[in-house]
Amino acid sequence: MPATKAYAAQSAESPIAPFEINRREPGLHDVLFEVIFCGICHTDIHMSRGHIPGCMFPMVPGHEVVGKVTQVGSAVTRHKVGDIVGVGCMVDSCRTCCECQAGEEHFCEAGMVGTYNALERDGKTPTFGGYSKRMTVDENFVLKISTKLDPAAAAPLLCAGITTYSPLKHWKVGKGSKVGVIGLGGLGHMAVKLAAAMGADVTVLSTSDGKRADAARLGAKNFAVTKDPETFGRLANHFDLIISTVSGGINYDAYVSLLKRDGTLVMLGVPDGPMEVNVFGLLMKRKSVSASLIGGIRETQEMLDFCAEHGIVSDIEMIAIDKVNEAYERILKSDVRYRFVIDMATLN
Ligand code: NAP
Ligand code: ZN
Ligand code: ZN
Repeated sequence: MPATKAYAAQSAESPIAPFEINRREPGLHDVLFEVIFCGICHTDIHMSRGHIPGCMFPMVPGHEVVGKVTQVGSAVTRHKVGDIVGVGCMVDSCRTCCECQAGEEHFCEAGMVGTYNALERDGKTPTFGGYSKRMTVDENFVLKISTKLDPAAAAPLLCAGITTYSPLKHWKVGKGSKVGVIGLGGLGHMAVKLAAAMGADVTVLSTSDGKRADAARLGAKNFAVTKDPETFGRLANHFDLIISTVSGGINYDAYVSLLKRDGTLVMLGVPDGPMEVNVFGLLMKRKSVSASLIGGIRETQEMLDFCAEHGIVSDIEMIAIDKVNEAYERILKSDVRYRFVIDMATLN
């Protein structure tokens, strides 16, 4: 296959810039697709800037990928040429361990193969993400995107969507559940839309008052400013579930105090250091603190189908690929409403 145009970081200190990669010819079970849109996740910034140990360069980020199928291997049954498809945070796993058998491939005992910043199962071929013109991916890791969904606004569902859908389902959010969402960014705004569609009574916990009107439009019943100390008195013992989408550390004890008996605080954002939580705050009302990682392939398809049924997509700002470094800076200032999506037609 001819070289594939892409954008990559050459090191943790370098900006994202043009690069060329090789994609494999589709094997028996592979799907080859042209990438048409790719969302920008905050994780792309963490990874491309080496905030996580073991980052591999050059790195082509992007794990909210939507494309149009151009070729399929002869054994492929799930997808066909012309289909609109999606790829999220993983492109392979061992497929035989108990986690893979249970449809929890992201917890694969051998380790899932990340869409980028990872090695294929051969242990030597680097994977490259969606900031690229085309991708070759095994059909079992390619999702179907309903024609009811706008493909650009559906791209963020592949990470922000599943990462928030999975804990909402796991902790059985339904009609009347009281759900708090800390941080109204890419993940946070999807959490609000999805929880509201499940019938929950959603409160956004944001650092400033500026997103109050948006929170209501997205489906939140309540809004609270976390810099206001009165918030923590008013909402004490209120929530069944609180989801933190903050990309840094937070005051864990303060949020634990907002949980009801048996309530859970779930971390999705990854702080730099370890968490320090006062056990006393947990034991008084049997509260829990947990964390959640994306979701399996079956659940990701379930989430995409749920979104098609409920008309849910991400609120996006479309950009050309040469604006990706500026977009990163704006994300770091929480200045995005609510997900940047790269129009891959601008990569020429
Ligand atoms: P994002 O769009 O930047 O949103 C994060 C939001 O958190 C901001 O919009 C802001 O909301 C709030 N925030 C930012 N800095 C804060 C601070 N210092 N204190 C309090 N609030 C702050 O990021 P994202 O793409 O949603 O990702 C969020 C985090 O989840 C990142 O760490 C990312 O790596 C991680 N992530 C985890 C998974 C997983 O599987 N667990 C998957 C994807 C991403 P307000 O303006 O409303 O305060
Ligand atoms: Zn992500
Ligand atoms: Zn496995």
